[in-house]
Amino acid sequence: MNYDQILKKIDKEIKPFANEGNVSDSIHELALINPSKFGIHLVTTEKMDYSFGDSNEKFSIQSISKVLSLSYAFQFLGENIWSRVGVEPSGNPFNSLAQLEYEKGKPRNPFINAGAIVIADILVSNLKNPKNDFLSFVRNLANCNSIDFNEKVALSEKKVGFRNAALANILKSFGNLKNGVEEVLDFYFYQCSIEMTCKELAQSCYFFANGGNTYSQNQRILTESQIKRLNALMQTCGFYDESGEFAYKVGLPGKSGIGGGIMAIHPQKYCVATWSPRLNLKGNSVMGMKALELLTTETQMSIF
Ligand code: GLN
Repeated sequence: MNYDQILKKIDKEIKPFANEGNVSDSIHELALINPSKFGIHLVTTEKMDYSFGDSNEKFSIQSISKVLSLSYAFQFLGENIWSRVGVEPSGNPFNSLAQLEYEKGKPRNPFINAGAIVIADILVSNLKNPKNDFLSFVRNLANCNSIDFNEKVALSEKKVGFRNAALANILKSFGNLKNGVEEVLDFYFYQCSIEMTCKELAQSCYFFANGGNTYSQNQRILTESQIKRLNALMQTCGFYDESGEFAYKVGLPGKSGIGGGIMAIHPQKYCVATWSPRLNLKGNSVMGMKALELLTTETQMSIF
């Protein structure tokens, strides 16, 4: 497969979409990003790297961090996680409050904010130094010590995190948050503020494509069966109320974030990360989605 040639073709073909969508303005710090950035990095399971554009520039991974926090928590609790959070698509925006109330404090899945806040609570309960330990876990995946939180972004989100505070309080009222609301939200905002380049993101999430073995030292962090389950969750819930559309157009499991990043995997073949800050109304990167649709079209490979 000539990925270099395919990425060049993608870069040309997404140009007409360069002005579609808007940069997220929900977090002040993210609104300052240059909207015309575009980067893509693909790493195959044979550890061959291909990239294009702004693939070596750091960006805020935001909700993509939810697949990493879930992977870490899965190591501690295994299947017991599902007593506190479900595995069904929500069909609602990522920060929706209503469903959580009428479903009595059990979030539909770990990728909507309510579910990710429960996972954050699990990590706070199980880690000695939650933020540091989580950062070490992430750094170890691709053996990359330059991966870090962006404190400005975390504090900027904390100032306006009223909906997340509301979600955390509803969870607490139903007994589905064991630690203090403030402590869990603090962890959650830092987790979302992690910055990576497309290359670092693709290499960090390589284990989803490689049956649970990491890029760095081929270290097994989850079993093949656990990876199968996490990939299934990404397929059905990774893009909130646009998960169906992503499956239809791209045909790969993946996860998006409002920083404009998307990570997607083809099991046993590759992990790919894209970054373009302009988002559609569902909070997913316009050019990133288009680029991945072109990738599976051009390679004639998807999981379907
Ligand atoms: N930190 C953001 C929030 O909690 C993450 C949302 C996202 O990337 N979809 O609202």
